[in-house]
Amino acid sequence: MTSHDKCIFCQIVAGNAQSQIVFENDKVMAFMDVMPASSGHALLVTKNHYDNVLEASPEDIAEVGRVSVAIATAVKQASGAQGIGVHQLNGAAAGQTVFHYHMHIIPQSEGAHVAIHSREMGDPASIAVMADKIRQALA
Ligand code: AMP
Ligand code: ZN
Repeated sequence: MTSHDKCIFCQIVAGNAQSQIVFENDKVMAFMDVMPASSGHALLVTKNHYDNVLEASPEDIAEVGRVSVAIATAVKQASGAQGIGVHQLNGAAAGQTVFHYHMHIIPQSEGAHVAIHSREMGDPASIAVMADKIRQALA
């Protein structure tokens, strides 16, 4: 497993940083975004550190794609949203801010413009409630 000490997502994967984890297997992990663009915003990451998709192993990205079906379905069920945005940014020029490969899974509702980034910390209690609902939907 490739890991970077200074990378916050590597620290979460290693269990050294706090996070609301909703799913993990040997290759990928899903946890709640701390600055949710909407309630239920989750991130799906490779456990291996890759700065972005341009450096990633195709096998690990294939696993992200495979698992994203279940995570998107669970996030939709838990949030009650009408739609789910699946987004992925690569490089600062594309708007990426955390340089460890990740996919955003964001509940979206008709008429509400939801950007990929909120830039405001979410309420930890509300995030914990959504994380529980997503875990239950995945069970
Ligand atoms: P991006 O700009 O696509 O790289 O997205 C990075 C995402 O990571 C943003 O939506 C942040 O809110 C989120 N984020 C940053 N730090 C953490 C953290 N410690 N736990 C969960 N999400 C985080
Ligand atoms: Zn990392």
